[in-house]
Amino acid sequence: MKPAPFEYFAPRSIDEALLLLERHGEKARPLAGGQSLVPMMALRLARPAVLVDLNPITALAGMELAGEHLRIGAMTRQAELLASPLARSHTPLLVEALTHVGHPPTRRRGTVGGSLAHADPSAELPAAIVALDAQLVLRSPSGQRRCAAAEFFKDAFETTLAPGELLAEIEVPLEAGGSAFFELSPRKGDFALIAAAARLELAADGQCRSCALVLGGVASKPVRCFEVERRLLGQRVDEQAIARAVSALPAEEIQTQDRQTSRDYRRRVAPVIARRALNEALARNGRTAQ
Ligand code: FAD
Repeated sequence: MKPAPFEYFAPRSIDEALLLLERHGEKARPLAGGQSLVPMMALRLARPAVLVDLNPITALAGMELAGEHLRIGAMTRQAELLASPLARSHTPLLVEALTHVGHPPTRRRGTVGGSLAHADPSAELPAAIVALDAQLVLRSPSGQRRCAAAEFFKDAFETTLAPGELLAEIEVPLEAGGSAFFELSPRKGDFALIAAAARLELAADGQCRSCALVLGGVASKPVRCFEVERRLLGQRVDEQAIARAVSALPAEEIQTQDRQTSRDYRRRVAPVIARRALNEALARNGRTAQ
């Protein structure tokens, strides 16, 4: 099939893009890498009457260290982040999650911001940025606001982005300790059936100073496992402690069932994926990025 007719604009600046989105309201959609939006348009699952192409806006792409954060422009290509020495050394969890996203051709076009704004419940980057306690910078004609990653995802394919608002930047705290991303998917490069993003930092005395465990692919948005984290914080962490903590995984929040796997299967296997991610994050404490 072919997309429904649409008007196309290629603004050169964020302000120009915001004005176009404001002028055309709900009829308009921003276009990033097109790896989700264009197939949806071809299947007539999305019928924007106006496309505002973000690709010419160079101010929305690129990465830089800013104090204790890595700032990532929304239009940064997934492949660029995957290959970035900055990202590899400061946010290895994001890089490891990206290794599961699609394929080299889709990563060359697909963007970090597009994946987050698309908010597919089986996407890997949302789980990773929630585990990293990232902040998202959203821009509109009236200014900008910040949103914690955990607040950004509302439901399947639904975010807190207001009509006409753009995701401009993702601010990721530099990682300390170790992290790991594991997933179960039908094939490499497929969306996750179950994913776990884990971060774990030990103090000098071996006690857990900070940790995060987020599941992807199991509900309409990333699931943060607070009770598991609470049981690890301040404790000496080893495989047994992790196994005990993971027994508190919020199974009731694992709701997704689809053609590929049942909810029960996800509830049985999610603890295995979570343990693997936490044990690998533990093992990576004190090791430089992979
Ligand atoms: P687009 O498709 O251009 O846009 C996606 C949506 O976000 C649109 O609604 C658009 O309006 C909106 N949007 C984009 N940028 C912004 C912004 N800055 N502010 C506000 N709204 C914005 N993804 C995975 O996570 N895991 C996978 O395993 C995976 N496998 C794939 C396999 C194939 C064959 C393909 C084609 C895609 C796959 N994807 C996968 C999706 C891919 O990662 C997309 O790149 C991503 O989901 C969307 O990014 P994009 O830059 O292409 O955005």
